[in-house]
Amino acid sequence: MRVLMTRPEICKGVRACVTACSKYLFKEENPEKSAIRVDGNPGGPFTIQVCNQCGECIAVCPTQALYRDKAGVVKIDKDKCVGCLSCVGFCPHGAMYFHADYTEPFKCVACGSCVKACPNGVLYLENVNQ
Ligand code: SF4
Repeated sequence: MRVLMTRPEICKGVRACVTACSKYLFKEENPEKSAIRVDGNPGGPFTIQVCNQCGECIAVCPTQALYRDKAGVVKIDKDKCVGCLSCVGFCPHGAMYFHADYTEPFKCVACGSCVKACPNGVLYLENVNQ
């Protein structure tokens, strides 16, 4: 499955990934609408919070709105999602996000926008076995 991999140990806290993600998902530069979050004080160290496509959330969705696509990426079927936020509360990695502007939560879809935006090569996509 396609997964966004991170190397937080070389992150400089630029957060270009955060901006690139919200632009990709919502056409906005808004860190609260990003599916990748970077935390840490100036100078680091930094932590990077993003979905690892474990898929554990799929079982908790009451409407079967969560599924894996052909690349193994966990996605949300907006037509089926009822906005209960069970998946947001459940996610063991804190990587399912929600914003009050939308009914459905959102998450990393391993699109690679953040990979291109990071000037420090912190992020990369990899195909890993499920
Ligand atoms: S918020 Fe949507 S995707 Fe998440 S568990 Fe509820 S119905 Fe499923």
